[in-house]
Amino acid sequence: MIYTDMIMHTISPSSHGNIDVIELLKAVGINPTYQRLQIAQILLARPQHLSAEQVLTIVNSHGGAVSKATVYNTLGLFASRGLLREVIIDPNKVFYDSNVAPHHHFFNVDTGTLTDIDPAQVVVEKIPALPVGTTADGVDVIIRIRQSSD
Ligand SMILES: [Zn+2]
Repeated sequence: MIYTDMIMHTISPSSHGNIDVIELLKAVGINPTYQRLQIAQILLARPQHLSAEQVLTIVNSHGGAVSKATVYNTLGLFASRGLLREVIIDPNKVFYDSNVAPHHHFFNVDTGTLTDIDPAQVVVEKIPALPVGTTADGVDVIIRIRQSSD
């Protein structure tokens, strides 16, 4: 549980608090297989940010035997159905966020942790003209922070 304790954050209540994960998966058209339920129970239980590697470690530390490929496929499926939000720090660092309400993030480059920022705390005043044929789907702000030296 070291991971979940470390990564838990406090700002936003989960939109998935105390839910029946079987019903939740069915509601978005996902067949609730045993492995998907294991992953859903870990990730959707509370607002948190976990990497695929962390999900894999937690599932298998609870006696599961889920492959890396299954974890990646399941997380991608959940994200595509709106159960999770992908927060891409860089191509090698992707978090899966169980809080799907609009919000922004601090990313601490020293600790590797992600913390929620209330959307009302960030004002984006200007964005460039969008490429022809596109509409804005959202603006996600990631503020990179590091430990102060003093
Ligand atoms: Zn978040």
